[in-house]
Amino acid sequence: MLSDNSIYAVNADLHCHSTVSDGTLSPADIAVRAKSNGVDLWALTDHDEVSGIPVARSVAHDLGMQYITGVEISITWAGKTIHIVGLDFDETNANLVQGLAKTRSGRERRAQDMAADLLNKTGIPDTYRGALKYVGNPDLISRSHFARYLVEIGACENVSDAFKHFLAEGKPGFVPHRWATLSEAVGWIRGAGGLPVVAHPGRYDLTPLALDAFFLEFKSLGGVAIETVTGSHSIDQYDEYTKVAQRYGFLASRGSDFHSPIDMDVDIGKLVSLPRLVKPVWEKWLSS
Ligand code: AMP
Ligand code: MN
Ligand code: MN
Ligand code: MN
Repeated sequence: MLSDNSIYAVNADLHCHSTVSDGTLSPADIAVRAKSNGVDLWALTDHDEVSGIPVARSVAHDLGMQYITGVEISITWAGKTIHIVGLDFDETNANLVQGLAKTRSGRERRAQDMAADLLNKTGIPDTYRGALKYVGNPDLISRSHFARYLVEIGACENVSDAFKHFLAEGKPGFVPHRWATLSEAVGWIRGAGGLPVVAHPGRYDLTPLALDAFFLEFKSLGGVAIETVTGSHSIDQYDEYTKVAQRYGFLASRGSDFHSPIDMDVDIGKLVSLPRLVKPVWEKWLSS
């Protein structure tokens, strides 16, 4: 059995994105970056897609890193978009693979609607074609690809500004979308033998009462963990969500949410350790 010291000392990074979804590095290049930044235990968690996993796993093993399968599923709950990370599942599970394909299938239509909205409200033309240059596969087109194109044409200075002015809820270019349900996402992950984790809970626009209802429902469906230390949280939120994990009896997960060396909040493998007040989600994956 490993001591608490070694469990908390493990450099686990269990949330990041490659070119398979809205990241800018290939799965192999992220593996190399993770290794050189000191990551011991790594999961690639592309949005709604698992096709990057075989290469990620193989390069991770060649580099001597422990690899855990991962995905980040988009869901709609009470009208809001929320992300559920799945970890340590069988990526060939048919139900999961079909569910993810269904979740991705609305992206192309939504992107065309976003482009029409941008043209009508701001006069900026051709953003669908522009965003597509950054992804190739219309099934995986995301707001991040639009953001990169808007930066490219000088409509805004950086990706974060592109969301602030164009792509966030209520802005021109935002088109409401219905993703999977909470019950579907948790069911697909658990059905494939994995652990459902609430991604960056501090980022959602929910009242405290709604967030409480969400955590209770997530738990009753079989959810087990939340991200506490993530590149998508402020330092204050590390503590806030550690307390939340204690209150609901969730395990804690840790991940940079790395997308790109440009515009990154936290580099892969560069987060602080988890506070020792909650058990890490990776405890049972470590071999002595
Ligand atoms: P989508 O799945 O197409 O709705 O795109 C969601 C993605 O957009 C997230 O996974 C983030 O990578 C990115 N994103 C969302 N909000 C912001 C923001 N304020 N700044 C930068 N990136 C963001
Ligand atoms: Mn993303
Ligand atoms: Mn997310
Ligand atoms: Mn993410």
